[in-house]
Amino acid sequence: MPAVEYAAIVVGASFAGLAVARQLRGSVLLLDRNDVGAIQTSACGTPLWVPEALGVAKSVLQVHERLTVRMGNHAVTYDLSDVPFCTFDYEAFCRGLRDQCEARFVKAAVTEWKDGQVVTTAGSFSAPVIVDCSGWRGVVVNGAARLQPSLGAYTFGLEAHTPVRDDKLTFFLDRNVIPRGLGWIFPVGSGSLIGLGSYSGHSKLRPALEHYLRREAIPAGAYHGTYFPNRLGRATAGRVFAVGDAAGQCLPLTAEGIRPALYFGGECGKIVKRIIAGSLTLDAGLASYDGIVRRYRKAYRILRWVQWATVHAPTSWLAALTELAAHRPLHPRWWPRYGRFGRFEPAEAPA
Ligand SMILES: Cc1cc2nc3c(=O)[nH]c(=O)nc-3n(C[C@H](O)[C@H](O)[C@H](O)COP(=O)(O)OP(=O)(O)OC[C@H]3O[C@@H](n4cnc5c(N)ncnc54)[C@H](O)[C@@H]3O)c2cc1C
Repeated sequence: MPAVEYAAIVVGASFAGLAVARQLRGSVLLLDRNDVGAIQTSACGTPLWVPEALGVAKSVLQVHERLTVRMGNHAVTYDLSDVPFCTFDYEAFCRGLRDQCEARFVKAAVTEWKDGQVVTTAGSFSAPVIVDCSGWRGVVVNGAARLQPSLGAYTFGLEAHTPVRDDKLTFFLDRNVIPRGLGWIFPVGSGSLIGLGSYSGHSKLRPALEHYLRREAIPAGAYHGTYFPNRLGRATAGRVFAVGDAAGQCLPLTAEGIRPALYFGGECGKIVKRIIAGSLTLDAGLASYDGIVRRYRKAYRILRWVQWATVHAPTSWLAALTELAAHRPLHPRWWPRYGRFGRFEPAEAPA
């Protein structure tokens, strides 16, 4: 059967894919193996300005103006009030973005990218522009090659829904619980998501998380988890654009992947829009997008270095550094800068 032809195909309809697709008009296909917003893999913590700027503020579950970092008995509280954080409802957030898209959505799993065609469980599709937003596996950019998530470029995260009602967003570093990683407590209104992340990509985290929750006498509900990258990857591969986890854009150390996926997705979408309109060639568009991502290489390298230090430095040093970073003169220098990374203005929302 001949492949159905579109102007552009976006593979993956989560943060990255929706950010690309909401910029596009015309004959655009948005593919995902699941319904939009159906499968949550993350704690959904991001700066409050993100859902506000995207017009999905109704998805916000809880706003956080403080972040506590715990190391053993030592706890440091960061003032986030300059750039407050929030936790949001994944389904409401994604559905809100989906409503801003004109693309045709097809629920189908992409099985391969062959001879210029995107082969799926619902048939084959082709387009001059392909954007891979399929998460850490990068089903199009990595092709048939099976990705080895154990190569040190991927963190594994696992979290559980719990009934803990709290007003403290918390990260904890406890090498007895998670030797090469960190833990978190993200209050989400009616309870909290409590999780562990292994920077070395160790995926058997359930016993450690269960042990931690038992120790704290916290009952656990459903668990979810997956890999996410901690090293910036390729923004383009051949004539394919890659966005979000498919391009390794999740931030090292903090494991924030939502904001980069949305930011780079928006930038990629604006470029693809110009390609579809005929005002930019595909080659120029690929080069332009690659250039935008490259500008952030240094920032990614710095965060990766701090991630390395978090795993290897003595805990007493880390405690001293986190204390220093929470106060003047350091805190006002780095927090607003970090918190506003990727800022997009409401005016940038597509008409
Ligand atoms: C436990 C955990 C907690 C996290 N907490 C946070 C947090 O609080 N804040 C934060 O910023 N980041 C967090 N992250 C990281 C964040 O979830 C990711 O970086 C982010 O989801 C990346 O977005 P994405 O759109 O690139 O990929 P994804 O969200 O992974 O979306 C990929 C999409 O592609 C679809 N797909 C995959 N394969 C196929 C296929 N073959 N065919 C069709 N469709 C396909 C999937 O169904 C999915 O909808 C967390 C990650 C984990 C694992």
